[in-house]
Amino acid sequence: MDFALLKALSEADAIAASEQEVRDILLAEADRFGKEVQFDGLGSVLIRLNESHGPKIMVCAHMDEVGFMVRSISSSGAIDAIPIGNVRMAARELQPVRITTRSGKKINGLLDGERQASDVSKLRVDIGARSAEEVTDAGVEPGDRIAFATPCSELPHKRVMGKAFDDRLGCYLLVTLLRELHQTPLDAEVWLVASSSEEVGLRGGQTAARKLNPDLAIVLDTACWAKNFDYGSDNHRQIGNGPMLVMYDKTLIAPPRLVEWVEETAGQNAIPLQRDMFSNGGTDGGAIHLSGNGIPTVVLGPPTRHGHCAASIADADDIDLTHLLLVALLKRSNANTVSHLTDFRC
Ligand SMILES: [Zn+2]
Repeated sequence: MDFALLKALSEADAIAASEQEVRDILLAEADRFGKEVQFDGLGSVLIRLNESHGPKIMVCAHMDEVGFMVRSISSSGAIDAIPIGNVRMAARELQPVRITTRSGKKINGLLDGERQASDVSKLRVDIGARSAEEVTDAGVEPGDRIAFATPCSELPHKRVMGKAFDDRLGCYLLVTLLRELHQTPLDAEVWLVASSSEEVGLRGGQTAARKLNPDLAIVLDTACWAKNFDYGSDNHRQIGNGPMLVMYDKTLIAPPRLVEWVEETAGQNAIPLQRDMFSNGGTDGGAIHLSGNGIPTVVLGPPTRHGHCAASIADADDIDLTHLLLVALLKRSNANTVSHLTDFRC
């Protein structure tokens, strides 16, 4: 795996609707290979991998991460913050964070909240200021974005740890697909889409799908299991056991033929799959598959430990295997694949 690329993506700060740091990395890659780029009105990035008269395939990962926004500045110098996206309660207490000011300056601080039973509210960031003037002198203003301040690092046994793996692992895979397939003739027209604002309601996936109107969508995302050291048969998100294929979530049930196609491809390439089901939550797939006349859509990606908090842990082999699976799927995509998926007579 390209750890430097993962580190750059993970350490970029991008809460919903403020995703320029991630967008810049993706645009640099697209420019490097001379690829056409389009945007939807929310800022999702649509990179055309190749030209083809075949069916159009959208491979989508979201750019945004869960984080916070400055709500107000108190006379004591405390910075009130609101969560943007579903930040876990435990991750709202005593967390190192960094604020990105309007001029792009980074200011480190410590976020803490008040716990009442299972709820943590009244979030405040302490940047060491003793007055509102000291906060504004530092350049902090209401509306500024706050992200966890976690460095991305390598762990033993080819594991990696960092913030925003949901869904920078997906963004990483968009780049590795671009790098590997930028000159490969394919029988489908592939668009690599980095969507905006998934964590606040599957927004950019929806608008990008409407713009692109694909025939088939593959959504890349990650999930973690509630018990981190559970190796039982219930846990389909075990790091080191291969990519997850999401059969069901609250917003999308993977079409059986599409599942078969992915499973067959994985089998041909000796790639293990974990068949997962999300009991709550959803992904961009939920919004994308309802676009236009309805788009056959499947969600897959490497599993993680710990989610929607300051750091997640993933397995480099799971990420590489997801890449191999995607390459194999795109190489065998053609007009027959799509017509088979949308022929409901048989
Ligand atoms: Zn996600």
